[in-house]
Amino acid sequence: MRRIDKRITYYQCSLCKTPYPSPRAAARCEASGIEKRAFKINDRVRAKEKRTCSFNKNYICRGAITAIKGPAPFDADVMKWILNALPNPCPGHFWEYIIAYTCPICKMEEEKLYYAVELERDNRRK
Ligand SMILES: [Zn+2]
Ligand SMILES: [Zn+2]
Repeated sequence: MRRIDKRITYYQCSLCKTPYPSPRAAARCEASGIEKRAFKINDRVRAKEKRTCSFNKNYICRGAITAIKGPAPFDADVMKWILNALPNPCPGHFWEYIIAYTCPICKMEEEKLYYAVELERDNRRK
């Protein structure tokens, strides 16, 4: 038996921390840019699309942004619901907004991840 130690070198995008096998791929990811930040923490927002509660009723998610994650790399599988709404040219990285809200139907406290294009400012006073 022989022990073989294999070293693998990765190149990491400094924006999204994704590891790439080649420096060119990592440089391309870094160069693809970041979406402009549309909201900040504590902004009150509402989702454009309705959600469905576990009671099978639709409601509008509205609440405050409690955290902003990312930037996350563009991923067509994750973002397939919003592909048509993305800006053109499409930046390579997106901010992920965590919305905390109380479901108006079952009164459960929820936290959901949204992208900026799914949200609009909610000017209604709480
Ligand atoms: Zn990246
Ligand atoms: Zn609910």
